Amino acid sequence: MMESGCVAPRPLPGTPCGRRTDTNLRVCTACVHRIRGLLAELPHVYRSCEAALARRPQPLTSERVSGSRAPSLPINEHAMAARTELLEVVAAWSALVADEFRQPRPRSRTIEELSLFLTRRLPLLLAHPAADDFTSELYTVARNARRVAHGDTGRHRTVGRCTHAGCESEVTVRMSVGDPAPQHVRCEAGHTWPPQQWLHLVSQLRATQLRATQLRATQLRATQLRASNAARHGSGRNQARSG
Ligand SMILES: [Zn+2]
Ligand SMILES: [Zn+2]
Repeated sequence: MMESGCVAPRPLPGTPCGRRTDTNLRVCTACVHRIRGLLAELPHVYRSCEAALARRPQPLTSERVSGSRAPSLPINEHAMAARTELLEVVAAWSALVADEFRQPRPRSRTIEELSLFLTRRLPLLLAHPAADDFTSELYTVARNARRVAHGDTGRHRTVGRCTHAGCESEVTVRMSVGDPAPQHVRCEAGHTWPPQQWLHLVSQLRATQLRATQLRATQLRATQLRASNAARHGSGRNQARSG
């Protein structure tokens, strides 16, 4: 049976986008656009990981707090792993498309060739029963690669949800070590804000947070009201029964 909701993941892992799909694809128009953009960006992300290989590795998160010290190599292992993973995932899906749809295999196993191969056959892949696996793997490896490519010289802070209509990706601010001024503001789907828009973005994010807080408060009041009404009716019935 054909599902009608878009299967591409939202920024939260495990939650599909769910918007209506009007074509035979299992992914909505907005997500197709996003996936095309992501595939076009992959060669650049891959090259950035390459550049990051030689830079001093820094932990991506604070997960490495145990006392044991692994011997460190003079290369950025995160960048190495992310780059390999990116190429492997794109190569594996290219192979699947080639085999399943009897398409000629990509001429070479380069990120440029493979990304282009997948972009050209995107309608086949996004109508395929494995479209959800493809999109979630693609998003995951691209996100990891982007983090090591851009994150090794600085740190990221998540500041809220993207303000573009229909995009719910997390917006992150990148700062360089020792400099508290933001360098780059972007959402995980690729929307960016130039410095002259940062103040406006901050006010939009604040307004969104305020609306969310107000909504929670309203929901809480409604729940309390329902509970007190139920209690009143309950005691009313009890009185009627006893009277
Ligand atoms: Zn979608
Ligand atoms: Zn966005």
